[in-house]
Amino acid sequence: MRPGPRAADVTSRCRLCGKQAAHYLNHAKMHLCENCFIKYYERKVYKSILKHNMLRGSRKVAVAFSGGKDSLALVKALHKILMEKFPEVELEVVHIDLGIPGYSEESRDLVEKICDNLNVKCHVYDLSAEKGYVIPDFQATPFRRRICGACGTIKRYLMNKIAYKIGADKLATGHNLDDVVEVLFELYLRGSVEEMVRIRPVSWSTHTKLVTKIKPLIELTEKENLYYVLSHKLPILSAKCPLSKNSRALKRKKLMNMIEAEIPGFKHTFYKSHLKRIMPHLRDSIREPTLIECKSCGMPSLSETCSYCKLISKLQKSQITHISNE
Ligand code: SF4
Ligand code: ZN
Repeated sequence: MRPGPRAADVTSRCRLCGKQAAHYLNHAKMHLCENCFIKYYERKVYKSILKHNMLRGSRKVAVAFSGGKDSLALVKALHKILMEKFPEVELEVVHIDLGIPGYSEESRDLVEKICDNLNVKCHVYDLSAEKGYVIPDFQATPFRRRICGACGTIKRYLMNKIAYKIGADKLATGHNLDDVVEVLFELYLRGSVEEMVRIRPVSWSTHTKLVTKIKPLIELTEKENLYYVLSHKLPILSAKCPLSKNSRALKRKKLMNMIEAEIPGFKHTFYKSHLKRIMPHLRDSIREPTLIECKSCGMPSLSETCSYCKLISKLQKSQITHISNE
């Protein structure tokens, strides 16, 4: 097997300025120093924003900030790009404290510290205090094997709700090329064409309570996000979510990295072919679903009860069964 992405060695020179290189980009076969890498990275984010019209008519962007390297890179780069190129657009951060011991405390501290340094307004939503449950509660339910799926439903629902409440017209997430390729791979395998249509750089709002979602990092890899964070000497979380061990998404990412090591540029090609060659056909043949309001919470839903309310009702039922069986 060919070696995977490698770090720059001391003799490598930056392709753009000739100084000592700090990073090597496998897909582009290019060495860059820290300064040139920062410029390259921010230019790519800016180009994605322009290419997909992500900030059309924007006044306030909410950024979903978990504390991980991807959302950290997003907050830092977007904050700079907005100040320089879109000074009329406000940026606010939303963080959900999931109540995961040994992980959520560190994530929350990092988020608050970064927002303080950037002087950015930070909305912290404490799941335990606000809703009376935490993500580890799902371990004692039938969802224990799909805990990341349950966590994802909760985060998507709350992020949208908070962004809507604070008056944001866009919700930016740190989804990157690795995330998109991993999900697309699974959807292609299953032939889930309706779901494939939703994997796009911008998901425009189709309901007054649904905030438009944007993915400014969609053409950047996790490795590039890490390099950006390192180049700025920003702190990196030492804790990992202890619940992620059996995540199928992580296994698929490993597989995608193995293919990338054999075929450099595979992830970029896969995503670009999907967007340019497949999406136009899918868009014509698949209609956007009509959203109604959930009868329990009033938020946008595909059916009478939204997936969040269904999930929480199942959690409550299993907790009652659990308690009554003791
Ligand atoms: Fe939630 Fe899974 Fe991420 Fe942990 S790894 S924060 S459980 S989605
Ligand atoms: Zn609901």
